[in-house]
Amino acid sequence: MDAIQILRQLKDKGVRFTPQRQAILEFLLRTNIHPTAEDIYQDVKAKFPGVSLGTIYNTLNMLKEHGHILELSYGDMSSRFDGNAQNHYHVVCSYCGKVVDFHRPLIRLEEEAEQRTGFQVMGHRMEFYGICSECRKREYLN
Ligand SMILES: [Zn+2]
Ligand SMILES: [Zn+2]
Repeated sequence: MDAIQILRQLKDKGVRFTPQRQAILEFLLRTNIHPTAEDIYQDVKAKFPGVSLGTIYNTLNMLKEHGHILELSYGDMSSRFDGNAQNHYHVVCSYCGKVVDFHRPLIRLEEEAEQRTGFQVMGHRMEFYGICSECRKREYLN
């Protein structure tokens, strides 16, 4: 979905959209860096110097509640946000915190989990951890 479609859907549900909120959504849709709220704040502030971190957080919560973005939380690190709400996987660097998409349908795992446990499986979460190629190079140089 693009920003226009999302805005139209939310307007139908009675959600008010300011230009700041729209800029937050557009940034999330065009980036694949899985930014933190602070990253989003820095980007939007360049265009709208008056924007507050509070606006960033309540817009993120609203978009998340309506299922348009994902929040990825990693223990004590700040949450990352993803403008792609479709099911996909992430590979996370344990050194620098970089998050990279990994697309591969693993739907059979849900079937297998159902067969083995007798549950009706509604969804799943999976994450890969490791050291990204840049951090590996840095390691090698040190
Ligand atoms: Zn790294
Ligand atoms: Zn992602």
